[in-house]
Amino acid sequence: MEHKLPALPWPKDSLAPHISPETIDFHYGKHHAAYVAKLNELIKGTALAELPLEEIIKKAQGPTFNNAAQVWNHSFYWNCMTPRGGGAPTEKVAELIKKKWGGFEKFKEVWSNSAVSNFGSGWTWLVKTATGDLEIVNTSNAGCPLTEGQKPILTIDVWEHAYYIDYRNARANYVAAFWNVVNWDFVAKNL
Ligand code: MN
Repeated sequence: MEHKLPALPWPKDSLAPHISPETIDFHYGKHHAAYVAKLNELIKGTALAELPLEEIIKKAQGPTFNNAAQVWNHSFYWNCMTPRGGGAPTEKVAELIKKKWGGFEKFKEVWSNSAVSNFGSGWTWLVKTATGDLEIVNTSNAGCPLTEGQKPILTIDVWEHAYYIDYRNARANYVAAFWNVVNWDFVAKNL
């Protein structure tokens, strides 16, 4: 089974000025595409070749895990943003955030601090744990909450390739800009 690079959920220039089309060209067109190509190369002729992506992520180690998880993480990440995003969450999402963090402003602060301080390359996630609680967790490199039995709800990519073209070394500015495009409808769907 050949894994495919999924289409972006919006035109590549539509997240500007928060995320530039040049970043999308590299991040989606080069990095994400390369993970897909490498995954297909690595699983060819192996026992993993016919498995769905999420199963590969749960079973594989090393380079195969890294490329499979990066394929999944990026497909999920694109959906976490939308040109019609931003603002504060409503209804169920707002309720659950309030229950756990006391309010959206505190959630934003905890999320942003986690994302900015996630050392090196990685991802910051909002997940639903096995007990149904919301948590903010960091993963390193290709790390994906699916291997921990957690359900991903929202993510931000904090690899340098996600922000260096637009923000250079200033990860905090990229994390701040994320709030202008965050896709609360997608978050609500994932709960
Ligand atoms: Mn990335």
